[in-house]
Amino acid sequence: MRLAICHLYPDLMNLYGDRGNVITLTRRSEWRGIRADVSAVGLGEDVDFTAYDILFMGGGQDKEQKLICEDFQGLKGRALTQAVEDGIAFLAICGAYQLLGRYYETGCGERLPGIGLLDVETRAGKKRMIGNVVIASELGGGRPRTLVGFENHSGRTYLGARVRPLGRVCLGYGNNGEDGFEGAVYRNVVGTYLHGSVLPKNPWLADWLIARALERRYGPTSLAPLDDGLERAAHDAAIIHAGRLARLYRTPVRSRDIAGTGRRRQPVRATAGDDPEHKANAAVAVVWRATVAGQTMGKEDGK
Ligand code: GLN
Repeated sequence: MRLAICHLYPDLMNLYGDRGNVITLTRRSEWRGIRADVSAVGLGEDVDFTAYDILFMGGGQDKEQKLICEDFQGLKGRALTQAVEDGIAFLAICGAYQLLGRYYETGCGERLPGIGLLDVETRAGKKRMIGNVVIASELGGGRPRTLVGFENHSGRTYLGARVRPLGRVCLGYGNNGEDGFEGAVYRNVVGTYLHGSVLPKNPWLADWLIARALERRYGPTSLAPLDDGLERAAHDAAIIHAGRLARLYRTPVRSRDIAGTGRRRQPVRATAGDDPEHKANAAVAVVWRATVAGQTMGKEDGK
């Protein structure tokens, strides 16, 4: 079996190690005996994206986004939409996520049109949303699973009816710091603010993308399990670090108003988690319990 991975604008859109996502997709395929070929596509290159299996585009600043938004307006945008409707797997981070939506309005009020393949719109706010993020996602089906990452954006993204959120924010800001959602999913496209890079520390999301890509090309397939001990350790360390910065383990969770309801949150206490993946460490279990309870626990101190 073979997978063709397309890395869009690798020279322009690559923040906080986003490139590591492509390395993870490649390695996790190769470790299972699946050949993975990576090609780069840049400004001015029009290609038939349906020939690829996985598309990836990382984050970038407004200056780079402006160049890409112009590049998207021609054939490229239509070809990407066609590939997405054809079921291609696509991971888009931060600035890329914004440009897959209907528009991104910069802090200067300039509206950069996006492709509109995701039913989302983004407007820059005054405050940058920076810090570690933990979200609970039901993307893989079954019980919610945690995703960890790092966010740094001024854009506030709001979801329309034709997308579903990637997850619910447990720690951090997510799409806009208001509605408790992070990311957007449409068909096999995942848009998210999670840098990090996100896939090495969240291998199940990498496998979700690989599985969708294999299904589209070869029909139903099951992925051989890998030893994810190191990845798991990195994931748990990120949760513990994020929780420590949010002071979750020294004081009870700050009892802030649940947005708009006037109700107060109950502190979440550490117990060995009910979930096998999260019970090893009581600190991780704190975040896990809040995650399954659908609680947003806070943001990092001072932010
Ligand atoms: N320029 C965008 C913002 O700040 C995207 C930043 C990014 O990709 N990290 O919202």
